Order: sequence, then structure tokens, then C-alpha cells
Amino acid sequence: MYGKMKEFLANELNSLEEQKLYKHERIIESAQGAEIVVNGKKVLNFCANNYLGLSSHPELIKAAHEMIDHRGFGLSSVRFICGTQDIHKELERKVSEFLGTEDTILFAAAFDANGAVFEPLFGPEDAIITDALNHASIIDGIRLSKAQRWVYKHGDMRDIEELDQASGKELKGLERCLKEANEKGCRFKVIATDGVFSMDGDIAKLDEICDLAEKYDALVMVDECHASGFMGKTGRGTHEYRGVMGRIDIITTTFGKALGGALGGCISGRKEIINWMRNKARPYLFSNSLAPAIVGATIKCLDILSASTELRDKLERNTKRFRKEMTDAGFDIIPGDHPITPIMFGKYENCSALAVEFANRMLQEGIYVIAFSFPVVPRGKDRIRVQISAAHDDAHLDKAIAAFIKVGKELKMI
Ligand SMILES: *Cc1c(COP(=O)(O)O)cnc(C)c1O
Repeated sequence: MYGKMKEFLANELNSLEEQKLYKHERIIESAQGAEIVVNGKKVLNFCANNYLGLSSHPELIKAAHEMIDHRGFGLSSVRFICGTQDIHKELERKVSEFLGTEDTILFAAAFDANGAVFEPLFGPEDAIITDALNHASIIDGIRLSKAQRWVYKHGDMRDIEELDQASGKELKGLERCLKEANEKGCRFKVIATDGVFSMDGDIAKLDEICDLAEKYDALVMVDECHASGFMGKTGRGTHEYRGVMGRIDIITTTFGKALGGALGGCISGRKEIINWMRNKARPYLFSNSLAPAIVGATIKCLDILSASTELRDKLERNTKRFRKEMTDAGFDIIPGDHPITPIMFGKYENCSALAVEFANRMLQEGIYVIAFSFPVVPRGKDRIRVQISAAHDDAHLDKAIAAFIKVGKELKMI
């Protein structure tokens, strides 16, 4: 029976290879950190979501070991049958405290949290208004609901509609979408956005979004996966960075990036919404409870970040330094504050091949970075996306910047 599909897939996979779109995975033979081992060689990692350097932090590892000893390896149950331990409630409490919300519900991943959050809240009489560059999991979550949807041009707050030359489509600003949803008499409206967008590292204008939400009687949902733990003065996230803590109705975030880097995510926000999720969210009701080791280490992580801003401060210093020295060296860098630092190749000839060649040469120099091309980013927006970490010391940054300059000169980019 499989024959026809086998042939089809073999052809499709070949075609991906030919288009240089096949995803080959590099194999890492060490723990995650600033220094990793690839092909038996020690290299510096500049492309992990390990923003705070906690992925292999000794205190988190110790907390995970201890929690395995005290609460076991797994729960073999969903939360509402026999999968809720005291530590799950403790983590939910600590996440709420950290984010400044009323309550929190845990999921196996932020992908699940985003997949869960829309369907129980928004039906055909409601409106979901979503940024064009939102994460795949938000897009999928919205697809699972029966709500009406409006997509607004990335980051565009205005009451406008304009023709996009590239796609030939009409693009609307957020305020225009809100007006249209009001005219249709929608019952509930929600604006959904990433807090930080992962490809450019640009930061949602949550202050303006909250103002518009108030004006048009909408809720605000923010995905904080690339922000929780380090954005804002005390690392609470984009809502702190933009001065709108307490004004966000729904936050989703991950424990798989800055907050330890293993697995897990949550929805955090208004009390009734979280209680509704405990009763209705399908990835919560029908999927296993988070493992004790992860729960224990994530609790430890939040304790560390609540006690001191040292790690996010170091990340901020590292980010400023890297961005400044790379820009001064002549690289084309999208300006900003976020540790995601995209080095753009669009202005050079054969930019896709050049970015791949650049990343390969960087690995030979002992720096692990990855080139991003279509369809992950739009055509002509090829880039190497560097991610700075608090795990990087000055010597790591010295070496990376020197390697970028060396390869940049070899390839006649600077
Ligand atoms: C990484 C990411 C997710 C998925 O997080 P997981 O916990 O790994 O499932 C969701 N949303 C955004 C914006 C992300 O960057």
C-alpha cells in the first residue's frame, strides 16, 4: 500500500534537496552551553535560545536530580486524573508571581499552550486579530477555533488598508481590523501577537496595542517565548519592557528557551480564563502532566531570576556590545535591543548561497551559527541569526566578532 506514497515522498524530498531547502541537522556531542562539541571539535554556540545560560546550569541540574528523587520520573497521567503534584501547583504560583498575572496553567510545550488557548474562548461570533508574522503555533491555534479572523500587517497599528506590491494583496493595520470587527458586531475580540518576533528580534508595541484594545473593547494575548526571563528591567517580559504589566489578559510562554531550555510552557493571565482552560483546553485535558524533573528545575530557575537580575543584565551588556561592534565593523544589522541579532545578506549578490557559505566558514573558525533562507524568512531577507547569551563571556564575544570580521573580509562583504 505504501508504494505510491513512498515514490511521492522520495520525489518531494529530492526536490527539497535540489532547492537547498532540506533541513540537515548538525549533531552536538555535548551538553548545551556557550561551548559545545560538534564533530569532535569544540565550538562556540551563537544560535541557541539559551538566553540566560541556564540550559546546563548546575543549580537547575541539581534541582532536577532532587525532584526525580522526591517526586519520581513521570506521572503517567494527565493533570485532572492523578497527574497534579504539589510542585505543579507551586510552579503555577511562581510563574504567576513572576509574570504579574492572576493564575497560570502548565502545558507540555508553548506550542500546546498556543494550540489550546483560542478554541475554548472564541467561537463564530468572535474575532481574533493577529499579526501577520505571528509564530506558527499561534496560527495553528487560531485555525482550531471557529472565530472570524483578521490578519494585520506586521507591527502596523494604523487605521489603513493598502495594496502590497509584492503579493498583490490588500493589507490592513490593526486599528482598521478592530473597526471592521466592531462593525460586524463581534461579541469578543482579541488581539494576538508575539511579544518578540523570532526572525528580526523586533518587539511588539504592546503599549499602543493595549491602548487600541481599550479603545475598541478587545482582549490582548501575547506570546512571550522570546522574552520571558530577560526582557524588561527585571526580566518579566515584553509587558514590562513596554510598561504594560497588568494590562495583558493572556500570556503564553515556554520553559524551553530562557527559562531552563528543557520543555514545557504555560498560559498565564486572568483567573477565570485559566480556570476555563483547566476545564476545556484539549492539550491540557488529553496530554500528559509535566515531568517532575522539569517542574523542579523550572521552579529553581524562577527563584534564581526573582532573586537577582544579574543574568539578564549580563545578557543586555553582551547584546549591546555585540550589536555595536558588528555594526561598526560594517555588517548590515537590523537595529534593536533584543539578543536576536540578524546579520542581513540581502544587499549582496547570491545572498542565499553567500549566507550558507558564511555560516560554514564560521564553523571552521569555531563559531556555530546558522543561515536562514526562504521559506523561513522572505526571499531576499537571507540572514545569519545570531543569538547572544548570558553564557557568553567577553572572550567568547571577542572570538566571535573577530571571526565574523575575518570571514566578512574573505567574502568581500565588509
Ligand atoms: C519557540 C516558540 C514557541 C514554541 O515553544 P515550545 O515550548 O518549544 O513549544 C511558541 N511561540 C513562539 C513565539 C516561539 O518562539
